[in-house]
Amino acid sequence: MTTAVASEFETVIGLEVHCQLITKSKMFCACSTAYSGAAPNTHVCPVCMGMPGVLPVINEQAIEYITMTGLALNCHIAEFSKFDRKNYHYPDLMKGYQVSQYDLPVCKNGWLEIEVEGQAPRRIGITRVHMEEDTARLLHRTDDATGEGYSLVDVNRSGSPLMEIVSEPDMRTPAEARDYLVRLRQILRYIGVSEANMEEGNFRCDANVSLRRRGTEAFGTKVEIKNMNSFRAVHDALAFEEIRQAELLRQGATIVQETRGWVDERQVTVSQRSKEEANDYRYFPEPDLPPLELSREFVERVRAKLPELPAVRRARLLGLGLSEYEAGTLTESRERSDYFDAVVAALPGERARAAKLGANWVLGEVGRWLNAAADRDIAALKVTPAMLAELIGMAEAKTITGAVAKEVFEKMTESGQPAPAIVEQLGLAQMGGSGELEGIVRTVVAANPKPAADFRAGKEAALNSLMGAVMKETRGRANPDVVKDLLRKELAE
Ligand SMILES: [Zn+2]
Repeated sequence: MTTAVASEFETVIGLEVHCQLITKSKMFCACSTAYSGAAPNTHVCPVCMGMPGVLPVINEQAIEYITMTGLALNCHIAEFSKFDRKNYHYPDLMKGYQVSQYDLPVCKNGWLEIEVEGQAPRRIGITRVHMEEDTARLLHRTDDATGEGYSLVDVNRSGSPLMEIVSEPDMRTPAEARDYLVRLRQILRYIGVSEANMEEGNFRCDANVSLRRRGTEAFGTKVEIKNMNSFRAVHDALAFEEIRQAELLRQGATIVQETRGWVDERQVTVSQRSKEEANDYRYFPEPDLPPLELSREFVERVRAKLPELPAVRRARLLGLGLSEYEAGTLTESRERSDYFDAVVAALPGERARAAKLGANWVLGEVGRWLNAAADRDIAALKVTPAMLAELIGMAEAKTITGAVAKEVFEKMTESGQPAPAIVEQLGLAQMGGSGELEGIVRTVVAANPKPAADFRAGKEAALNSLMGAVMKETRGRANPDVVKDLLRKELAE
Protein backbone atom coordinates (compact mmCIF):
# COMPACT_ATOMS: atom_id res chain seq x y z
CA MET A 1 0.00 0.00 0.00
CA THR A 2 1.20 3.53 -0.61
CA THR A 3 2.23 5.31 2.58
CA ALA A 4 -0.67 7.77 2.34
CA VAL A 5 -3.19 4.91 2.28
CA ALA A 6 -1.23 2.93 4.87
CA SER A 7 -1.39 5.78 7.37
CA GLU A 8 -5.17 5.96 6.96
CA PHE A 9 -6.07 2.25 6.93
CA GLU A 10 -4.87 -0.94 8.53
CA THR A 11 -5.03 -4.23 6.61
CA VAL A 12 -6.36 -7.32 8.40
CA ILE A 13 -5.47 -10.71 6.91
CA GLY A 14 -6.36 -14.25 7.91
CA LEU A 15 -5.32 -17.36 5.98
CA GLU A 16 -6.88 -20.78 5.45
CA VAL A 17 -4.49 -23.45 4.26
CA HIS A 18 -5.54 -26.83 2.92
CA CYS A 19 -2.76 -29.32 3.06
CA GLN A 20 -2.65 -32.91 1.81
CA LEU A 21 -1.12 -35.44 4.19
CA ILE A 22 1.39 -38.01 2.91
CA THR A 23 -0.32 -41.13 4.20
CA LYS A 24 -0.12 -44.36 2.19
CA SER A 25 -3.89 -44.80 2.01
CA LYS A 26 -6.87 -42.45 1.85
CA MET A 27 -8.70 -40.97 4.85
CA PHE A 28 -11.58 -43.45 5.13
CA CYS A 29 -10.69 -46.39 2.83
CA ALA A 30 -7.71 -48.56 1.89
CA CYS A 31 -7.19 -47.01 -1.58
CA SER A 32 -3.60 -45.90 -2.25
CA THR A 33 -2.84 -42.17 -2.33
CA ALA A 34 -0.04 -42.79 -4.87
CA TYR A 35 -2.31 -41.77 -7.75
CA SER A 36 -0.06 -39.05 -9.16
CA GLY A 37 0.39 -39.83 -12.85
CA ALA A 38 -1.99 -42.81 -12.66
CA ALA A 39 -4.84 -43.29 -15.14
CA PRO A 40 -8.06 -41.54 -14.00
CA ASN A 41 -10.39 -43.50 -11.69
CA THR A 42 -7.94 -46.34 -10.99
CA HIS A 43 -7.43 -45.61 -7.27
CA VAL A 44 -11.05 -45.94 -6.21
CA CYS A 45 -13.41 -48.17 -4.22
CA PRO A 46 -17.07 -48.04 -3.13
CA VAL A 47 -16.17 -45.85 -0.10
CA CYS A 48 -14.37 -43.05 -1.97
CA MET A 49 -16.80 -43.37 -4.90
CA GLY A 50 -19.59 -42.54 -2.41
CA MET A 51 -21.64 -45.72 -2.94
CA PRO A 52 -24.51 -46.23 -0.51
CA GLY A 53 -24.28 -48.93 2.13
CA VAL A 54 -20.50 -48.87 2.69
CA LEU A 55 -18.79 -47.75 5.89
CA PRO A 56 -15.75 -45.46 6.25
CA VAL A 57 -12.86 -46.34 8.60
CA ILE A 58 -10.60 -43.63 10.11
CA ASN A 59 -6.95 -43.62 8.93
CA GLU A 60 -4.85 -43.73 12.12
CA GLN A 61 -1.74 -42.36 10.41
CA ALA A 62 -3.67 -39.24 9.40
CA ILE A 63 -4.77 -38.72 13.02
CA GLU A 64 -1.16 -39.05 14.17
CA TYR A 65 -0.08 -36.50 11.52
CA ILE A 66 -2.72 -33.92 12.44
CA THR A 67 -1.82 -34.34 16.12
CA MET A 68 1.83 -33.80 15.25
CA THR A 69 0.89 -30.66 13.29
CA GLY A 70 -1.18 -29.35 16.18
CA LEU A 71 1.69 -29.87 18.63
CA ALA A 72 4.21 -28.22 16.28
CA LEU A 73 1.82 -25.23 16.02
CA ASN A 74 1.43 -25.00 19.81
CA CYS A 75 -2.25 -26.01 19.71
CA HIS A 76 -4.41 -27.65 22.31
CA ILE A 77 -5.17 -31.22 21.19
CA ALA A 78 -8.79 -32.05 21.95
CA GLU A 79 -9.46 -35.19 23.99
CA PHE A 80 -12.78 -35.46 22.23
CA SER A 81 -13.54 -34.40 18.68
CA LYS A 82 -15.92 -35.59 16.01
CA PHE A 83 -16.56 -35.66 12.26
CA ASP A 84 -19.40 -33.83 10.53
CA ARG A 85 -20.97 -33.84 7.10
CA LYS A 86 -20.59 -30.62 5.15
CA ASN A 87 -23.40 -30.65 2.60
CA TYR A 88 -23.13 -29.03 -0.80
CA HIS A 89 -23.75 -30.09 -4.36
CA TYR A 90 -20.94 -29.95 -6.83
CA PRO A 91 -19.78 -32.65 -9.27
CA ASP A 92 -16.41 -33.02 -7.47
CA LEU A 93 -18.23 -34.37 -4.41
CA MET A 94 -19.16 -38.02 -4.81
CA LYS A 95 -21.47 -38.34 -1.79
CA GLY A 96 -23.16 -34.95 -1.93
CA TYR A 97 -21.33 -34.07 1.30
CA GLN A 98 -17.75 -33.82 2.47
CA VAL A 99 -16.65 -35.42 5.73
CA SER A 100 -15.07 -32.61 7.74
CA GLN A 101 -15.05 -31.30 11.31
CA TYR A 102 -17.33 -28.46 12.36
CA ASP A 103 -17.59 -27.50 16.04
CA LEU A 104 -15.09 -29.94 17.57
CA PRO A 105 -11.81 -29.92 15.58
CA VAL A 106 -8.75 -31.97 16.63
CA CYS A 107 -6.55 -28.92 17.29
CA LYS A 108 -7.36 -25.43 18.62
CA ASN A 109 -5.76 -22.22 19.91
CA GLY A 110 -2.17 -22.42 18.70
CA TRP A 111 0.33 -19.96 17.29
CA LEU A 112 3.15 -19.64 14.81
CA GLU A 113 5.94 -17.09 15.07
CA ILE A 114 6.73 -15.00 12.00
CA GLU A 115 9.65 -12.65 11.44
CA VAL A 116 9.54 -10.26 8.53
CA GLU A 117 12.91 -8.72 7.75
CA GLY A 118 13.57 -5.59 9.74
CA GLN A 119 10.73 -6.24 12.19
CA ALA A 120 10.53 -7.88 15.61
CA PRO A 121 9.18 -11.48 15.64
CA ARG A 122 5.39 -11.71 16.05
CA ARG A 123 3.04 -14.54 17.00
CA ILE A 124 0.17 -15.28 14.61
CA GLY A 125 -2.71 -17.14 16.24
CA ILE A 126 -3.86 -20.49 14.86
CA THR A 127 -7.61 -20.75 15.38
CA ARG A 128 -7.91 -24.42 14.53
CA VAL A 129 -6.58 -27.36 12.56
CA HIS A 130 -9.17 -29.87 11.45
CA MET A 131 -9.33 -33.07 9.44
CA GLU A 132 -11.32 -33.58 6.28
CA GLU A 133 -11.29 -35.44 2.98
CA ASP A 134 -10.27 -34.14 -0.41
CA THR A 135 -12.68 -33.96 -3.36
CA ALA A 136 -12.48 -35.50 -6.83
CA ARG A 137 -10.74 -33.56 -9.60
CA LEU A 138 -12.72 -32.00 -12.43
CA LEU A 139 -11.14 -31.64 -15.87
CA HIS A 140 -12.87 -29.07 -18.06
CA ARG A 141 -12.79 -29.77 -21.79
CA THR A 142 -14.26 -28.42 -25.01
CA ASP A 143 -15.75 -30.71 -27.64
CA ASP A 144 -13.82 -30.21 -30.89
CA ALA A 145 -16.80 -30.82 -33.16
CA THR A 146 -19.52 -28.81 -31.40
CA GLY A 147 -17.41 -26.35 -29.40
CA GLU A 148 -19.47 -27.22 -26.33
CA GLY A 149 -17.86 -27.44 -22.92
CA TYR A 150 -17.98 -30.56 -20.76
CA SER A 151 -16.27 -31.83 -17.64
CA LEU A 152 -14.60 -35.12 -16.75
CA VAL A 153 -14.39 -36.44 -13.20
CA ASP A 154 -11.25 -38.14 -11.86
CA VAL A 155 -12.09 -39.71 -8.49
CA ASN A 156 -8.48 -40.71 -7.63
CA ARG A 157 -8.00 -37.70 -5.33
CA SER A 158 -11.39 -38.12 -3.67
CA GLY A 159 -11.09 -39.17 -0.02
CA SER A 160 -7.40 -38.25 0.35
CA PRO A 161 -6.65 -36.91 3.83
CA LEU A 162 -6.75 -33.14 3.94
CA MET A 163 -5.91 -30.91 6.86
CA GLU A 164 -7.27 -27.36 7.11
CA ILE A 165 -5.19 -24.90 9.09
CA VAL A 166 -7.06 -21.69 9.93
CA SER A 167 -5.21 -18.64 11.26
CA GLU A 168 -6.54 -15.77 13.34
CA PRO A 169 -6.90 -12.46 11.41
CA ASP A 170 -3.53 -11.43 12.88
CA MET A 171 -1.52 -10.49 9.80
CA ARG A 172 -1.23 -6.85 8.79
CA THR A 173 0.71 -6.84 5.51
CA PRO A 174 1.05 -9.07 2.42
CA ALA A 175 4.70 -9.64 3.45
CA GLU A 176 3.56 -11.03 6.81
CA ALA A 177 1.11 -13.36 5.06
CA ARG A 178 3.88 -14.66 2.82
CA ASP A 179 6.22 -15.17 5.77
CA TYR A 180 3.49 -17.08 7.63
CA LEU A 181 3.09 -19.42 4.66
CA VAL A 182 6.85 -19.93 4.27
CA ARG A 183 7.21 -20.83 7.95
CA LEU A 184 4.10 -23.02 7.99
CA ARG A 185 5.35 -24.96 4.96
CA GLN A 186 8.76 -25.34 6.58
CA ILE A 187 7.23 -26.82 9.76
CA LEU A 188 5.00 -29.24 7.81
CA ARG A 189 8.03 -30.46 5.86
CA TYR A 190 10.22 -30.74 8.97
CA ILE A 191 7.69 -32.95 10.73
CA GLY A 192 7.21 -34.92 7.50
CA VAL A 193 3.42 -34.82 7.30
CA SER A 194 3.07 -33.16 3.88
CA GLU A 195 5.06 -32.34 0.78
CA ALA A 196 3.45 -28.91 1.15
CA ASN A 197 4.07 -27.96 -2.46
CA MET A 198 1.83 -25.11 -3.57
CA GLU A 199 2.60 -25.44 -7.28
CA GLU A 200 1.60 -29.12 -7.16
CA GLY A 201 -1.61 -28.32 -5.32
CA ASN A 202 -1.02 -30.24 -2.10
CA PHE A 203 -0.74 -26.95 -0.17
CA ARG A 204 -3.53 -24.52 -1.10
CA CYS A 205 -4.25 -21.14 0.42
CA ASP A 206 -7.35 -18.92 0.60
CA ALA A 207 -7.09 -15.48 2.17
CA ASN A 208 -9.56 -13.26 4.01
CA VAL A 209 -8.72 -9.59 3.80
CA SER A 210 -10.39 -6.44 5.10
CA LEU A 211 -9.42 -2.86 5.90
CA ARG A 212 -10.23 -0.72 8.90
CA ARG A 213 -9.42 2.88 9.76
CA ARG A 214 -6.34 3.12 11.90
CA GLY A 215 -7.13 3.35 15.57
CA THR A 216 -10.47 1.51 15.28
CA GLU A 217 -11.05 -1.98 16.66
CA ALA A 218 -14.02 -3.25 14.65
CA PHE A 219 -13.18 -5.29 11.57
CA GLY A 220 -14.19 -4.04 8.14
CA THR A 221 -16.15 -6.16 5.65
CA LYS A 222 -13.94 -9.01 4.55
CA VAL A 223 -13.35 -10.37 1.09
CA GLU A 224 -12.22 -13.93 0.48
CA ILE A 225 -9.56 -14.44 -2.20
CA LYS A 226 -9.09 -17.78 -3.94
CA ASN A 227 -7.12 -19.22 -6.84
CA MET A 228 -3.61 -18.27 -5.74
CA ASN A 229 -1.07 -20.86 -6.86
CA SER A 230 2.21 -19.58 -5.42
CA PHE A 231 3.49 -17.59 -2.45
CA ARG A 232 4.16 -14.71 -4.81
CA ALA A 233 0.54 -14.87 -6.04
CA VAL A 234 -0.74 -14.70 -2.42
CA HIS A 235 1.43 -11.65 -1.78
CA ASP A 236 0.45 -9.89 -5.02
CA ALA A 237 -3.28 -10.66 -4.66
CA LEU A 238 -3.32 -9.22 -1.12
CA ALA A 239 -1.36 -6.16 -2.23
CA PHE A 240 -3.84 -5.59 -5.08
CA GLU A 241 -6.84 -6.13 -2.80
CA GLU A 242 -5.75 -3.70 -0.08
CA ILE A 243 -5.38 -0.93 -2.67
CA ARG A 244 -8.73 -1.78 -4.30
CA GLN A 245 -10.52 -1.70 -0.96
CA ALA A 246 -8.77 1.49 0.20
CA GLU A 247 -9.83 3.29 -2.98
CA LEU A 248 -13.47 2.22 -2.50
CA LEU A 249 -13.48 3.30 1.15
CA ARG A 250 -11.97 6.70 0.32
CA GLN A 251 -14.72 7.26 -2.24
CA GLY A 252 -17.27 6.52 0.50
CA ALA A 253 -18.37 3.25 -1.13
CA THR A 254 -19.03 0.09 0.86
CA ILE A 255 -17.07 -3.12 0.50
CA VAL A 256 -19.17 -6.06 -0.72
CA GLN A 257 -18.67 -9.27 1.21
CA GLU A 258 -17.77 -11.69 -1.55
CA THR A 259 -15.38 -14.28 -2.90
CA ARG A 260 -12.88 -13.00 -5.46
CA GLY A 261 -10.50 -14.98 -7.65
CA TRP A 262 -6.91 -13.96 -8.41
CA VAL A 263 -6.15 -13.75 -12.13
CA ASP A 264 -2.40 -14.11 -12.30
CA GLU A 265 -1.99 -13.10 -15.98
CA ARG A 266 -3.78 -9.79 -15.37
CA GLN A 267 -2.58 -9.30 -11.76
CA VAL A 268 -6.11 -8.49 -10.53
CA THR A 269 -8.84 -10.07 -8.39
CA VAL A 270 -12.29 -10.50 -9.94
CA SER A 271 -15.65 -11.12 -8.26
CA GLN A 272 -16.70 -14.78 -8.24
CA ARG A 273 -19.56 -15.02 -5.79
CA SER A 274 -21.34 -12.64 -3.42
CA LYS A 275 -22.47 -13.51 0.08
CA GLU A 276 -26.09 -13.98 -1.07
CA GLU A 277 -24.99 -16.82 -3.32
CA ALA A 278 -22.81 -18.40 -0.63
CA ASN A 279 -23.48 -21.98 0.36
CA ASP A 280 -25.38 -22.89 3.49
CA TYR A 281 -23.55 -26.08 4.32
CA ARG A 282 -26.04 -27.50 6.85
CA TYR A 283 -23.38 -29.32 8.86
CA PHE A 284 -24.55 -32.30 10.90
CA PRO A 285 -22.70 -35.06 12.78
CA GLU A 286 -21.36 -37.92 10.64
CA PRO A 287 -23.35 -40.95 11.85
CA ASP A 288 -21.03 -43.52 10.25
CA LEU A 289 -17.89 -42.53 12.17
CA PRO A 290 -17.26 -42.82 15.91
CA PRO A 291 -16.13 -39.71 17.80
CA LEU A 292 -12.38 -39.28 17.98
CA GLU A 293 -11.04 -39.75 21.50
CA LEU A 294 -7.33 -39.01 21.83
CA SER A 295 -5.79 -40.16 25.11
CA ARG A 296 -3.09 -38.05 26.74
CA GLU A 297 -0.75 -41.05 26.39
CA PHE A 298 -1.29 -41.00 22.62
CA VAL A 299 -0.60 -37.26 22.47
CA GLU A 300 2.61 -37.67 24.49
CA ARG A 301 3.74 -40.55 22.25
CA VAL A 302 3.26 -38.29 19.20
CA ARG A 303 5.05 -35.40 20.95
CA ALA A 304 8.06 -37.66 21.51
CA LYS A 305 8.30 -38.22 17.75
CA LEU A 306 8.56 -34.49 16.92
CA PRO A 307 11.96 -33.43 15.59
CA GLU A 308 13.67 -30.28 16.79
CA LEU A 309 11.68 -27.56 14.99
CA PRO A 310 13.23 -24.89 12.73
CA ALA A 311 12.79 -21.95 15.13
CA VAL A 312 14.53 -23.87 17.93
CA ARG A 313 17.35 -24.88 15.58
CA ARG A 314 17.85 -21.30 14.41
CA ALA A 315 18.11 -20.14 18.02
CA ARG A 316 20.62 -22.91 18.80
CA LEU A 317 22.82 -21.91 15.84
CA LEU A 318 22.66 -18.23 16.80
CA GLY A 319 23.77 -19.31 20.27
CA LEU A 320 26.87 -20.88 18.66
CA GLY A 321 27.77 -17.49 17.20
CA LEU A 322 26.47 -17.95 13.66
CA SER A 323 24.88 -14.98 11.89
CA GLU A 324 21.11 -14.61 11.25
CA TYR A 325 21.76 -15.35 7.59
CA GLU A 326 23.82 -18.46 8.30
CA ALA A 327 21.38 -19.83 10.89
CA GLY A 328 18.39 -19.12 8.64
CA THR A 329 19.87 -20.67 5.50
CA LEU A 330 21.30 -23.73 7.26
CA THR A 331 17.91 -24.56 8.79
CA GLU A 332 15.82 -23.86 5.66
CA SER A 333 15.30 -27.57 5.08
CA ARG A 334 15.53 -30.32 7.65
CA GLU A 335 17.87 -32.31 5.38
CA ARG A 336 20.44 -29.52 5.18
CA SER A 337 20.10 -28.75 8.88
CA ASP A 338 20.61 -32.42 9.84
CA TYR A 339 23.63 -32.61 7.52
CA PHE A 340 25.18 -29.50 9.07
CA ASP A 341 24.62 -30.82 12.61
CA ALA A 342 26.30 -34.12 11.71
CA VAL A 343 29.34 -32.32 10.21
CA VAL A 344 29.76 -30.18 13.33
CA ALA A 345 29.33 -33.22 15.61
CA ALA A 346 32.17 -34.96 13.74
CA LEU A 347 34.54 -32.00 14.06
CA PRO A 348 36.81 -31.93 17.11
CA GLY A 349 37.52 -28.95 19.32
CA GLU A 350 35.63 -25.92 20.50
CA ARG A 351 31.91 -25.91 19.44
CA ALA A 352 31.61 -22.33 18.17
CA ARG A 353 34.75 -22.79 16.04
CA ALA A 354 33.43 -26.14 14.70
CA ALA A 355 30.05 -24.52 13.89
CA LYS A 356 31.76 -21.68 12.00
CA LEU A 357 33.90 -24.10 9.97
CA GLY A 358 30.90 -26.35 9.28
CA ALA A 359 28.77 -23.35 8.23
CA ASN A 360 31.46 -22.09 5.84
CA TRP A 361 31.61 -25.45 4.10
CA VAL A 362 27.91 -26.35 4.09
CA LEU A 363 26.91 -22.88 2.83
CA GLY A 364 29.95 -22.63 0.56
CA GLU A 365 31.03 -25.77 -1.28
CA VAL A 366 28.00 -27.94 -0.41
CA GLY A 367 25.68 -25.06 -1.35
CA ARG A 368 27.52 -24.57 -4.65
CA TRP A 369 27.13 -28.28 -5.41
CA LEU A 370 23.39 -28.15 -4.55
CA ASN A 371 22.82 -25.10 -6.75
CA ALA A 372 24.70 -26.48 -9.74
CA ALA A 373 21.58 -28.35 -10.92
CA ALA A 374 17.91 -27.73 -10.22
CA ASP A 375 17.00 -31.16 -8.90
CA ARG A 376 19.94 -31.72 -6.55
CA ASP A 377 19.17 -33.08 -3.13
CA ILE A 378 21.59 -33.33 -0.22
CA ALA A 379 20.60 -37.00 0.18
CA ALA A 380 22.33 -37.67 -3.18
CA LEU A 381 25.60 -36.03 -2.10
CA LYS A 382 28.35 -38.67 -2.07
CA VAL A 383 30.28 -36.72 0.57
CA THR A 384 28.88 -37.85 3.92
CA PRO A 385 29.06 -35.49 6.94
CA ALA A 386 31.90 -37.61 8.39
CA MET A 387 33.84 -37.36 5.11
CA LEU A 388 33.39 -33.60 4.97
CA ALA A 389 34.52 -33.28 8.60
CA GLU A 390 37.67 -35.28 7.73
CA LEU A 391 38.41 -32.96 4.80
CA ILE A 392 37.88 -29.86 6.96
CA GLY A 393 40.23 -31.42 9.54
CA MET A 394 42.97 -31.85 6.91
CA ALA A 395 42.69 -28.22 5.83
CA GLU A 396 42.74 -27.11 9.49
CA ALA A 397 45.87 -29.20 10.17
CA LYS A 398 47.43 -27.62 7.04
CA THR A 399 47.96 -31.03 5.48
CA ILE A 400 46.39 -29.40 2.42
CA THR A 401 45.81 -25.75 1.54
CA GLY A 402 42.38 -24.14 1.42
CA ALA A 403 42.46 -24.02 -2.40
CA VAL A 404 43.34 -27.69 -2.63
CA ALA A 405 40.61 -28.61 -0.10
CA LYS A 406 37.99 -27.16 -2.47
CA GLU A 407 39.46 -29.12 -5.37
CA VAL A 408 39.43 -32.31 -3.27
CA PHE A 409 35.79 -31.69 -2.29
CA GLU A 410 34.81 -31.51 -5.93
CA LYS A 411 36.61 -34.79 -6.66
CA MET A 412 34.86 -36.35 -3.64
CA THR A 413 31.42 -35.37 -5.01
CA GLU A 414 32.30 -37.20 -8.23
CA SER A 415 33.96 -40.38 -6.94
CA GLY A 416 32.66 -40.67 -3.38
CA GLN A 417 36.21 -41.42 -2.22
CA PRO A 418 37.45 -40.08 1.11
CA ALA A 419 39.72 -37.01 1.15
CA PRO A 420 43.01 -38.75 2.17
CA ALA A 421 42.78 -41.18 -0.77
CA ILE A 422 42.27 -38.33 -3.28
CA VAL A 423 45.10 -36.25 -1.79
CA GLU A 424 47.38 -39.30 -1.98
CA GLN A 425 46.46 -40.22 -5.58
CA LEU A 426 46.84 -36.70 -6.93
CA GLY A 427 49.87 -35.75 -4.87
CA LEU A 428 48.08 -32.74 -3.43
CA ALA A 429 49.62 -32.73 0.04
CA GLN A 430 50.78 -29.28 1.06
CA MET A 431 54.38 -28.36 0.32
CA GLY A 432 55.36 -27.06 3.71
CA GLY A 433 59.10 -27.72 3.96
CA SER A 434 61.15 -24.64 3.10
CA GLY A 435 63.79 -26.75 1.31
CA GLU A 436 61.18 -27.93 -1.19
CA LEU A 437 59.99 -24.39 -1.85
CA GLU A 438 63.25 -22.41 -1.82
CA GLY A 439 64.16 -23.36 -5.39
CA ILE A 440 60.70 -22.48 -6.71
CA VAL A 441 60.72 -19.11 -4.96
CA ARG A 442 64.15 -18.29 -6.39
CA THR A 443 63.02 -19.17 -9.92
CA VAL A 444 59.83 -17.12 -9.59
CA VAL A 445 61.68 -14.02 -8.36
CA ALA A 446 64.18 -14.32 -11.22
CA ALA A 447 61.39 -14.73 -13.78
CA ASN A 448 59.43 -11.68 -12.50
CA PRO A 449 61.92 -8.80 -12.28
CA LYS A 450 59.27 -6.04 -12.39
CA PRO A 451 57.27 -6.95 -9.21
CA ALA A 452 60.53 -7.91 -7.51
CA ALA A 453 61.96 -4.45 -8.20
CA ASP A 454 58.68 -2.80 -7.14
CA PHE A 455 58.74 -4.61 -3.83
CA ARG A 456 62.35 -3.69 -3.20
CA ALA A 457 61.36 -0.08 -3.94
CA GLY A 458 58.83 -0.27 -1.09
CA LYS A 459 55.63 -1.42 -2.86
CA GLU A 460 54.31 -4.01 -0.38
CA ALA A 461 51.42 -4.99 -2.73
CA ALA A 462 53.89 -6.32 -5.31
CA LEU A 463 54.40 -9.31 -3.02
CA ASN A 464 50.91 -10.59 -3.89
CA SER A 465 51.73 -10.97 -7.55
CA LEU A 466 54.84 -13.01 -6.66
CA MET A 467 52.77 -15.10 -4.20
CA GLY A 468 50.30 -15.81 -6.99
CA ALA A 469 53.09 -16.94 -9.30
CA VAL A 470 54.44 -19.36 -6.67
CA MET A 471 50.93 -20.75 -6.04
CA LYS A 472 50.45 -21.28 -9.75
CA GLU A 473 53.80 -23.04 -9.98
CA THR A 474 52.89 -25.35 -7.06
CA ARG A 475 49.26 -25.87 -8.14
CA GLY A 476 48.04 -24.29 -4.91
CA ARG A 477 49.85 -26.74 -2.70
CA ALA A 478 52.35 -24.37 -1.09
CA ASN A 479 51.79 -23.17 2.46
CA PRO A 480 51.15 -19.43 1.99
CA ASP A 481 52.85 -18.41 5.24
CA VAL A 482 56.04 -20.28 4.34
CA VAL A 483 56.03 -18.78 0.82
CA LYS A 484 55.64 -15.26 2.20
CA ASP A 485 58.62 -15.74 4.52
CA LEU A 486 60.77 -17.21 1.77
CA LEU A 487 59.88 -14.41 -0.68
CA ARG A 488 60.77 -11.71 1.86
CA LYS A 489 64.07 -13.45 2.54
CA GLU A 490 64.85 -13.83 -1.17
CA LEU A 491 63.95 -10.21 -1.97
CA ALA A 492 66.00 -8.86 0.94
CA GLU A 493 69.16 -10.33 -0.54
ZN1 LIG B 1 -11.31 -45.84 -1.79
